Order: sequence, then C-alpha cells, then structure tokens
Amino acid sequence: MKQTFRGSCHCGKVRFTAGIDLDAGARRCSCAACVKTRAWSVIVEPQDFRLLGGEQHLCDHTAGSATLRHLFCDHCGVRPFGRGRLEAVDGEVVAVNLACLDEVDPALLAAAWARIAKRPLAGALRYG
Ligand SMILES: [Zn+2]
Repeated sequence: MKQTFRGSCHCGKVRFTAGIDLDAGARRCSCAACVKTRAWSVIVEPQDFRLLGGEQHLCDHTAGSATLRHLFCDHCGVRPFGRGRLEAVDGEVVAVNLACLDEVDPALLAAAWARIAKRPLAGALRYG
C-alpha cells in the first residue's frame, strides 16, 4: 500500500515528500555511481513526488550513458533522489533514495531491502 513519506538530505536544505509502496520492494541501481555510493532506491512516478525545498541547492551528476540525473545537495553532498526516464516504465520517474526517508520504521526499510535481495539481477534497475 502506498504511503506518503517525508525525506531530506543530511543538512535538511533539500526536503521532499514521496508516495511509496514499500511492499513492492527496493531497487539497487547497477550504474557505477550508485554502486560506489551503495544507493538503494524506489521508483516513483513524478506525480507522487513533491520537492518541498532546496531546489537551489541541487546539483547533478549524470554518469556515462545514464538517463537518470543523480541529484545531490551542494551543501552536504547527500543524494536524496534522482530524476530521469526509464524504458521499463516508458516514462519519467523519480528514484528516491531510501536512506533519505525521515521518520520511517527501520523494520519497513529492512523488509523492502530484503525483497530486492531475492529478486534476480535482471530485475535490478539500471540507469546506465
Ligand atoms: Zn544537504
């Protein structure tokens, strides 16, 4: 069931809400940047994501042939989410970094991470 979660970067300059169904599990991107930062994310549709503050603090990094812009805070360096186009859903998406969700039950996150661990590698999200 989709729930609305609040999230932020480390310093709190970038803040957002996102409608996420944690029962659907998390995804581990296999691009070099996400592997290096151990990014685990959930994909949400743009209408389920709302940036509450910090647009002016967002910098981006696009790796290789990636179709996703990895957005990070220019103050603390944390990557709370990314935006891009995903062929698997044939549309624009927002990849929300699960580690940046605030006030979420750690057991829910652990269960979401466990779900992707059981999925085949082919099911993992790849941005580039
Ligand atoms: Zn920050």
